[in-house]
Amino acid sequence: MTNRYPPLETEIRRRITSGGPLPVMHYMTMCLTDPEHGYYLTNDPIGAAGDFTTAPEISQMFGELLGLWAGSVWRQMGSPAQLQLVELGPGRGSMMQDALRAAHVMPEFRAAIAVHFVEISPLLEQRQREFVDGIGLPFTWHKTLEEVPDGPTIILANEFFDALPVHQAVMCADGWHERVIKIDEGQKLRFSIARDPIPLFDQLLPRGMRAQIGEVFEWRADQTALELGRRVKHSEGAALVIDYGHAKSEAGDTLQAVSRHNYADPLLLPGLVDLTAHVDFQALAEAAESMGATAHGPIEQGEFLRRLGIETRAVALKSTAPPSKVMEVERGLERLTGDIGRGMGRLFKAMALSHPKLGPPPGFEP
Ligand code: SAH
Repeated sequence: MTNRYPPLETEIRRRITSGGPLPVMHYMTMCLTDPEHGYYLTNDPIGAAGDFTTAPEISQMFGELLGLWAGSVWRQMGSPAQLQLVELGPGRGSMMQDALRAAHVMPEFRAAIAVHFVEISPLLEQRQREFVDGIGLPFTWHKTLEEVPDGPTIILANEFFDALPVHQAVMCADGWHERVIKIDEGQKLRFSIARDPIPLFDQLLPRGMRAQIGEVFEWRADQTALELGRRVKHSEGAALVIDYGHAKSEAGDTLQAVSRHNYADPLLLPGLVDLTAHVDFQALAEAAESMGATAHGPIEQGEFLRRLGIETRAVALKSTAPPSKVMEVERGLERLTGDIGRGMGRLFKAMALSHPKLGPPPGFEP
């Protein structure tokens, strides 16, 4: 009987059978990062052959502009002779490659860099290791941000926070209940609601938030956001978080599964499809600010990239590109900054966290 399901699903069913319904957070954690069968441990999910595409895979302009952003922030920091350029969840490493190439126009900045990758996936780490040889800068890999040594630091995170598991609670007549996953009479995995309300949950909700019965509220453990804020403060540095999500905390079920570039059922094929949820930028900002960082934004990705000069960069690229490449540059610009169809320009947001003495980083000036 247990052999009917793939190994991770067998384990999830065993847990539910022995321990009762599984909170969404535990389900998502198992699906994404189970050490043996988790999605990120067993897949290279990014790109045409994978499940989803990200901004750095769409156009080199994205990483280039972020590289120059980091260069300007380094100057705001007083041009320290050694800088840790940290990337959370680097995927295929494309963004860092493009950023470091663009950094050639600021040789002193480039020479100061030691790259630190925070990556949970051995497969993706392998891909990242493939390109670092010719670059001439030190690279170090870590499993968590906590492992990165102290020192002047700039942190970049594109589509990292959406991959961290969320808790979900459902508003009921007698208060908020944790959203869980159970096995129904037909032996299917199904969403359900924990029997007892979560004590004092109202006090944890963002102030002023209203919800109707049946609505879902999502939240993430603050650990990474707190650590981000602590590092930014302590290292007198900055961080840039780009992701899809909402600027203000609000109710809504945003848990989604994606497989082969299409939406999928989050309860089918656990561990074999990507699971994400929107980033709550207000919660992220509040956690980081509680550690002494200053939050800037979020602003829409399209606006942010235009402020960094993506349109000028596109013109320059097109002027030297063969005709076949010109269309690619135009399509990349449209996808990164526009909001039609698969356009990422409005749904994706950019938020910076910086040491209060630095002032607003490029793109976030009032
Ligand atoms: N930033 C890249 C990849 C985004 S996909 C891009 O824009 O293309 C999410 C990345 O975060 C992957 O590299 C994944 O392996 C990594 N990741 C997911 N969960 C993680 C965790 N808990 N700790 C560290 N890395 C994680």
